[in-house]
Amino acid sequence: MDRFDVAIIGTGPAGLEAALTLKNRNKKILLLGNNNSSDKVYKAHEIKNYLGLPNISGEDFSKAFIEHIKVMGIEITEDVISQVYDMGDYFALQGHGQEMYEAKSVIIATGVKFDKPYKGEEEFLGRGVSYCATCDAPLYKGKNICVVLESADEFDEVEFLASVANELTLIPLYDDEIKSISNVKVVKDKPIEIKGERKANKLILENNEVDFDGLFILKKSVPLSYLLQGIEMDGAHIAVNRQMETNIKGVFACGDITGKPYQYIKAAGEGNVAALSAVNFLANNK
Ligand SMILES: Cc1cc2nc3c(=O)[nH]c(=O)nc-3n(C[C@H](O)[C@H](O)[C@H](O)COP(=O)(O)OP(=O)(O)OC[C@H]3O[C@@H](n4cnc5c(N)ncnc54)[C@H](O)[C@@H]3O)c2cc1C
Repeated sequence: MDRFDVAIIGTGPAGLEAALTLKNRNKKILLLGNNNSSDKVYKAHEIKNYLGLPNISGEDFSKAFIEHIKVMGIEITEDVISQVYDMGDYFALQGHGQEMYEAKSVIIATGVKFDKPYKGEEEFLGRGVSYCATCDAPLYKGKNICVVLESADEFDEVEFLASVANELTLIPLYDDEIKSISNVKVVKDKPIEIKGERKANKLILENNEVDFDGLFILKKSVPLSYLLQGIEMDGAHIAVNRQMETNIKGVFACGDITGKPYQYIKAAGEGNVAALSAVNFLANNK
């Protein structure tokens, strides 16, 4: 497996700026996120406070970002990282699908999301509730699986889970048409609560209930406490110093995830600092 110098998780202004800086410093990088940059860039109406780009729409802003990284020869790997493991002298990153990646250092640029976990989600995580199909599908071979799917982009994970399940109940949280699969039942409803005793076994929806052996909640991002265990938080944000270093050696964070103000220019600036700190780390840990 290729081992990268730096894996960057997130393709908003923080992650993209980190990627540019690392490319300029000839580092072997893995940039993980999505090809539109970030919804918070793409969907913004009009941006008036980014230096050099007055009155630009979010869509054009996003295009300008992506064009810039393309010109630099940087590719985006479209994946959602569900977990990062500290292996001592390198980090292993678990993608949502079958992919596993390795890097000597990691920059977390995932932005912030404010959606609350479902009632019971945190309590039953690892006890019948999972965020990672690849990691946990084997536990539910021939059993009944329920999947809450946030976006159509992750539908291949549903196909994978259906291939191991007896029956799969899919709760899509989006409106696109759903491809039919023989052992998949689609229920359009809103998840409210996860219930169980020692292990989770029931999902309460607004108008239905689903019994399951395993529940997979496939989101565009995962809670930070799950993404990298042991990372020090400052409230809802990752605690960093001015070099964007976290408490874990070789792990850096930048952008909204390190705290307010939530601004594009602050995110990009911190991406630059995190990248240079990663360069320093690599030089001192050969
Ligand atoms: C509607 C709107 C308008 C705004 N207007 C302005 C403005 O005019 N001026 C201004 O300065 N700021 C504005 N902001 C704030 C600005 O959007 C944020 O400060 C900025 O986008 C933060 O950049 P970031 O790179 O830290 O994170 P984000 O832009 O949130 O990008 C994070 C990226 O990481 C990806 N990601 C998350 N988790 C994972 C994972 N586990 N694996 C892989 N990828 C992952 C996400 O999908 C996303 O692509 C606005 C925000 C909104 C919502």
